Amino acid sequence: MFAQRLAQVAPSATLKMAAEAERLRRAGVNVVDFSAGEPDFPTPEHVKEAGKTAIDQNFTRYTPAPGIPELREAICKRYETDYGIKITAAEVLMTVGGKQALFNTALALFNEGDEVITHAPYWPTIPEQVKLVGGVPVIVSTRSDDGFAVHADAIIRAITPKTKAIILNSPSNPTGALIDEAAVAAITDVAAKKGLWMIVDLCYEQLIYEQVPHNLPKVLFDRHRDRTVLAGSASKSYAMTGWRCGWTIAPKELTSAFNTIQGQSTSNITSITQKAVLAALQGSQQPVIDMLNEYRTRRDNIHAWLTEHPGIKCVKPKGAFYLFPDISGLLGHGGINSSADFAQGLLEKEHVVVTPGEAFEAPGYLRISYATSMEQLREGANRILRFASAAV
Ligand code: PMP
Repeated sequence: MFAQRLAQVAPSATLKMAAEAERLRRAGVNVVDFSAGEPDFPTPEHVKEAGKTAIDQNFTRYTPAPGIPELREAICKRYETDYGIKITAAEVLMTVGGKQALFNTALALFNEGDEVITHAPYWPTIPEQVKLVGGVPVIVSTRSDDGFAVHADAIIRAITPKTKAIILNSPSNPTGALIDEAAVAAITDVAAKKGLWMIVDLCYEQLIYEQVPHNLPKVLFDRHRDRTVLAGSASKSYAMTGWRCGWTIAPKELTSAFNTIQGQSTSNITSITQKAVLAALQGSQQPVIDMLNEYRTRRDNIHAWLTEHPGIKCVKPKGAFYLFPDISGLLGHGGINSSADFAQGLLEKEHVVVTPGEAFEAPGYLRISYATSMEQLREGANRILRFASAAV
């Protein structure tokens, strides 16, 4: 009855866990929810004010489909300040979140049967969008024992004559790992030689906890600017998930193709959101720094608490707001044979919601979001430790 393309695509497992948590909460259960893929902070005050002013000033009509010029200019400025790359507004298009940025890219670039390489553990939307447009995701696995490093040679080995693009995500959801500049440079050099598109999901670009060189936009622009797509988002950086704002930075001709796609589907993103994001980009960046510092403290604490248990192994993530512990040492007892069983048991017995690694093509792991209060983190860690000890 439905279109065939749907047969290939899986619904979001992370949203499923969130729905389960909501069901328990409604039933009056004291749930600790570590499944959230979004900041628990409110949108910064000056950003909210800009949104309210936009409404009061009746900035409530259609805008140009790619976004208002001053916002596209503000994106150019931010990337010049942050990364030293020079782009023009004709290379920027505002999208309904990073999700639409990536989806426009998939629609504009991938034909039936095109292979698109990415790395696992992955954010499931990446391969599912490739499948939605008829492409074939090719997955290169990474391992926790070397910090989920993406190795250039593994990516390069996956290239075939059918490869159309390589999608990288750094910092990564779900692992929090960063991809080394040197690895990205080596991959990009080969992509340039073979004419492949490089697509980089920078959704968590402002959430990096260590002082490490991580200027991926410059690495890509210096080598392969005419086939690079950067996908950005205001969601995590500015605690604006519900406002729905992302963007693409891509060559002019591709941006114009995105404009055609968007012009015939969703048109401009919400006018009010555009004014709010303009304030976020142009105003003080102190809220971003404050949130980053708070996430870092939470990360250090939850990491220390959970790794007290000998059955829980966990690299300390350098970015995003997730821990991705290996719990395979806790499996194989009392009917708990997979991380999915573990997550289900944890939910039923201790009312803690986590996302099992199966959702990210990484069985044996759990994703724990620390975008929640320190009290919740302490309480949830206690419950997980208790469940883990009972499990072995
Ligand atoms: N990329 C990654 C890796 C993400 O985790 C997310 C959100 N979960 C996004 C992109 C897109 O987020 P949004 O559409 O809210 O910008």
